[in-house]
Amino acid sequence: MAATLLQGDTLASEIKQTLKKHIKDLKAKGVPPHLVAVQVGESAAAKVYLRQQQKACEEMGIEYEVRQLPESTTQQKLLDFIEQLNEDNSVTGIILMMPLPQGIDARQVQVTISPDKDVEGMHPANMGRLVYGEMGLSPCTARAAVELLKSSGVELKGKELVVVGHSEIVGKPLALMLLASLMESPTVTVCHIATKDLAFHTKRADILMVAVGKPGLIQADMVKDGVVVIDIGINRVPVTDEKGNPVLNEKGKPKKKTVGDVDFEAIKEKAGFITPVPGGVGPMTTMMLLHNTVEAAEKVAAQSKKKPHRT
Ligand code: NAD
Repeated sequence: MAATLLQGDTLASEIKQTLKKHIKDLKAKGVPPHLVAVQVGESAAAKVYLRQQQKACEEMGIEYEVRQLPESTTQQKLLDFIEQLNEDNSVTGIILMMPLPQGIDARQVQVTISPDKDVEGMHPANMGRLVYGEMGLSPCTARAAVELLKSSGVELKGKELVVVGHSEIVGKPLALMLLASLMESPTVTVCHIATKDLAFHTKRADILMVAVGKPGLIQADMVKDGVVVIDIGINRVPVTDEKGNPVLNEKGKPKKKTVGDVDFEAIKEKAGFITPVPGGVGPMTTMMLLHNTVEAAEKVAAQSKKKPHRT
């Protein structure tokens, strides 16, 4: 029997309605959420993300601004700029766009962002809270994956949960979130590039969450029947015809499509639940960014109760 799809769009639109109410309240309190994306130099990839962020913020009525700094910006200038944003009470959230030009220490810049305005949840203080089981401002993709898993309604207690991928932005925070008591304590195994026998682990999984960036890494013979699959990977691969030849687009270039890390077509016949790619974790990641933006503004609103910064 085919798996139930865990659709990110559906869950995201539910969360959107709740966030809209919070945004209305914040505006009424004189603390409108105001997100600033900092970009240093030019990057085609970052431009795509900036457009997505802008569109998402516009739809929600969140003020959104891109602060573009020249490629030649020094580390110190960038740190000073971030400090200014930290001190500006009208700015409630900050995103640092990657990649940064060579010679800039991204970690140091990330750490300079006030943890209260760190809507990407990458500051060590926010990461550290995950160890205590507090979500707070947490990394958006990991949080998106957790919310999708929760939406399945599957009980986690005592289950074997396998995370594949241990990056700082996805795999590690995801594993910490899953270990938190509020997640009903499944047994969490984390696999990575140096894992000797990946299939040994994935075959044991009641729940499998994959964040690697390798299309087709997880094949149907690597999972058991009824598994819950959360596919976080995003990969662009060529479209091929039935003979395996590349299909060309109207410009004569190879046509591409987006796929995850798991063999979706085969695994959906075995799984209990599965996220599609696209349309699974992706839309929820954007929604979690907006969620963090609202939460960060609520912190400012709580702090400014005694002394409002806007009249
Ligand atoms: P990364 O390159 O930083 O980390 C990849 C991880 O995969 C590492 O921990 C590595 O050890 C592990 N790995 C590599 N090869 C492996 C193998 N053969 N077997 C087991 N583990 C292996 O990547 P990332 O930033 O964590 O992103 C992972 C994927 O998630 C990418 O496809 C990325 O595009 C996607 N992603 C999606 C979203 C979203 O919104 N859905 C957001 C961020 C990242």
